[in-house]
Amino acid sequence: MGIIDGKVAIVTGGTRGIGYTIVKELLRNGAQVALAGSRQETVDDALEKLAGEGFTEGVMGIAPSLSDPDAVADSFSWVAERFGHLDILCNNAGISSRTPLVDYTIEEFQKVMDLNVTAAFVCSQAAAHIMIEQGTGGSIINTSSMVGRYGQPSGVAYPTSKFAVNGLTLSLARELAKHRIRVNAVAPGITHTDMVDTLPDALIKPLIDSIPLGRMGEPADIANACLFLASDMADYVSGAVIPVDGLSRP
Ligand code: NAD
Repeated sequence: MGIIDGKVAIVTGGTRGIGYTIVKELLRNGAQVALAGSRQETVDDALEKLAGEGFTEGVMGIAPSLSDPDAVADSFSWVAERFGHLDILCNNAGISSRTPLVDYTIEEFQKVMDLNVTAAFVCSQAAAHIMIEQGTGGSIINTSSMVGRYGQPSGVAYPTSKFAVNGLTLSLARELAKHRIRVNAVAPGITHTDMVDTLPDALIKPLIDSIPLGRMGEPADIANACLFLASDMADYVSGAVIPVDGLSRP
């Protein structure tokens, strides 16, 4: 028996990287899961990959534009209808950028903010709407980052967006507590995914060397923290931003 048996979750950015691992961890522990991706094609690929790993039951895919309130509301309602309810939302989808300030365009800044912040707001609103109507509480888990605590020396939209995610987390935790909807965040340090694979070795190696626990994070490290926050084991935890970063203090 899994620790989230019978619960229903939506994971944004569930097609690869950290999100894909969160999807598997939630499925393995008894939830039904809808993974959200940016395109139907990548969603279908992820569902096929999951099936290849033995995850065929209780999983579906959606691909709404995450910063479009109507598209997200329709999609989330469809998931709640199909699986019976909605208990967990993981706002995991995110994009990074490392452009120096002098070269930053407003379009690039806006693109990062749109997905990392606006989409988290839109998805939280749609999920909360369903959870409040159900009256059985819920758990919203945002993906922040260690740079949402320490800043980052380039690509200013990314750390700015993660500071905003922390603000969203703490504020919604207060606003939604009366509905027994808990809102928390995980703040990964450098974690081994495609996002990191695109960065040059010269940048990555010194970062890893500086991590007190001596290694880069794995997606499973982040998924474990999400599983805890999603479960009733975290029934008295809300408004927390949990660092999962090997004690990285850049
Ligand atoms: P990734 O690039 O491997 O995956 C990103 C996910 O977001 C993918 O599933 C992708 O489809 C989805 N996505 C991208 N653009 C989208 C859009 N417009 N609409 C919907 N979905 C979209 O990244 P990752 O490393 O797995 O990152 C996941 C989360 O973890 C992000 O919020 C990221 O900021 C955060 N994070 C990652 C690291 C790291 O080192 N990898 C560190 C700290 C925080």
